[in-house]
Amino acid sequence: MINITLPDGSIKEFESGITPMEVAKSISEGLARNVISANFNGAVIETVTPLQEDGSLVLYTWRDKEGKTAFWHSTSHIVAQALEELYPGVKLTIGPAIDNGFYYDVDLPNDTISEKDFPKIEQKALEIARGKHNYKMRSVSKSEALNFYKEQGNEYKVELIENLEDGTITFCDHDTFTDLCRGGHIPNTGIVKAIKILSVAGAYWRGDEHNTQLTRVYGISFPKQKELTEYLELLEEAKKRDHRKLGKELELFTFSQKVGQGLPLWLPKGAALRERLEQFLKQAQKKAGYEMVVTPHIGQKELYVTSGHYAKYGEDSFQPIKTPKEDEEFLLKPMNCPHHCEIYNSKPFSYRELPKRYAEFGTVYRYEQSGELHGLTRVRGFTQDDAHIFCTPDQVDQEFMNVIDLSLYVLGSLGFEDFTAQVSIRDPKTPDKYIGSVDNWEKAENAIINAAKEKGLDYVIEEGEAAFYGPKLDFMVKDALGRNWQLGTIQVDYTLPERFDLTYKGSDNELHRPIMIHRAPFGSMERFIALLLEHTGGNFPLWLIPEQAIILPVSEKHEKYAEKVLKSLENNEIRALIDSRNETVGKKIREAEMNKIPFMLIVGEDDEKANTISVRKHGGDDLGAITIEKFTDLVTKEINSTLKSF
Ligand SMILES: [Zn+2]
Ligand SMILES: [Zn+2]
Repeated sequence: MINITLPDGSIKEFESGITPMEVAKSISEGLARNVISANFNGAVIETVTPLQEDGSLVLYTWRDKEGKTAFWHSTSHIVAQALEELYPGVKLTIGPAIDNGFYYDVDLPNDTISEKDFPKIEQKALEIARGKHNYKMRSVSKSEALNFYKEQGNEYKVELIENLEDGTITFCDHDTFTDLCRGGHIPNTGIVKAIKILSVAGAYWRGDEHNTQLTRVYGISFPKQKELTEYLELLEEAKKRDHRKLGKELELFTFSQKVGQGLPLWLPKGAALRERLEQFLKQAQKKAGYEMVVTPHIGQKELYVTSGHYAKYGEDSFQPIKTPKEDEEFLLKPMNCPHHCEIYNSKPFSYRELPKRYAEFGTVYRYEQSGELHGLTRVRGFTQDDAHIFCTPDQVDQEFMNVIDLSLYVLGSLGFEDFTAQVSIRDPKTPDKYIGSVDNWEKAENAIINAAKEKGLDYVIEEGEAAFYGPKLDFMVKDALGRNWQLGTIQVDYTLPERFDLTYKGSDNELHRPIMIHRAPFGSMERFIALLLEHTGGNFPLWLIPEQAIILPVSEKHEKYAEKVLKSLENNEIRALIDSRNETVGKKIREAEMNKIPFMLIVGEDDEKANTISVRKHGGDDLGAITIEKFTDLVTKEINSTLKSF
């Protein structure tokens, strides 16, 4: 008999040789129907692998990330079989699951695959899936494995096998198909009910450009057709909301190959938007007792050696800039923290003066490989809404709470309602990995957890996820399409005060180390605006949107009146413009809709006589003819309802 520990901590006794599927059946028939993957003592296994020893068993269904991984990887086998049948001579290489679906890299010496071929691949793969073939793992000797692929003339699999150790090699069979595979499959192909080939791309064998270019076939699959339909709708919507597309359409930012890859250029409307976001945060920060500081874009190499950033970013980042005569070395600033430490160091502090809160919209530069760059989310230069709080150990609690308040204010004012917090703490099993006293760590971890509780945050605790220099809290935001984004973090740090020898005089008249808190509610302006674009689809909150209203004169005759309306809106701090082009009102409305302007103010004969404007909302709602005062009230009310007070 063996003892199997389940995730709820319960221990059950079974006969040796029982399979995960049979364990599932012993729990409930319903569970057994849904189990598609399993993990035993930390290793992914098949649901039919006999268990021979005591251990911990986790059963996964489609709802689990691990279940999806097994599902998608298993589908890659089906698609590979379809490709073999459709393209004789195709050479298979690798076919892993990815975040959303799977791919298979294949060498097609005689063919190419394009979008028009996708339906026939999907159809073939579905035909195979419907056969309900079991996935069966078997061990093979190295020579047997090599022979199998040498006979096929598949040099890729031969190369993979040559790097494996004899005795560890396994094949997976289903139907007439065999693949070299470590395992981790769903029970049978019949569970896969919907398959979609999404795209093809070139990919070098082993990611090396000196090697053969292979064809990477991307796909995704689901246990229900309905889920595939929903996923494809989501993809369509995501395409429409792609921040790179919207940023261009709304004239917010651009990139120039001449300026350099990964270096965004903010256009006037985008710059104004950023400015409003910065002002919004600056005002709140002022109320929260922050002081603004300004630091340069570069710093001496020694500064980053002291801070430890050189060890982290130095070799793999932008290389030092040298001065022509003195041979000094400077680095582009990868982080603002070291500069702020030196600001703290510029004068002595007593405990009565703490906390000190230094804030800066600091632009930093980090090298990213050109292939990794992506719109505003992966760039080489970006501005953090950074701040560093220097406080006594007793103040960490309150400071952390204040930062959470500020973060919640930011998220609320920008229309994010669905977010969770991830609290990263030490792995208690490896205390040596962390710098700082156990006492301080405990204090800080408790402070973070208490603050999260006190503020009613929906939070998860991740043991072992803390940085070596301190615990942290990250906000994870769900956007309108249900995708997760990691936003700003709040991080406690014991290292930098140590490395920069920061001190304050305590009530005992002795020198003590302050604790440093790093925080950035937006994370970075670039990433945040990208998220905001994809979340709102460009329909920003009214307080933030570049143009709140557009005045559309019915004809040239009414231009004077339009200008009068504009003046009075401007006097009320409403951002508006006039579309005085010689176009029909219908066309002007359509374009204003495309530009996501919230209010269209149509002015014609009757309006001019009655001193009114005819208001149409973005999306089509007609508010009729109202006075400018009434419209101003309406705008103010809507702004106040989103922009919470702080
Ligand atoms: Zn496999
Ligand atoms: Zn920092």
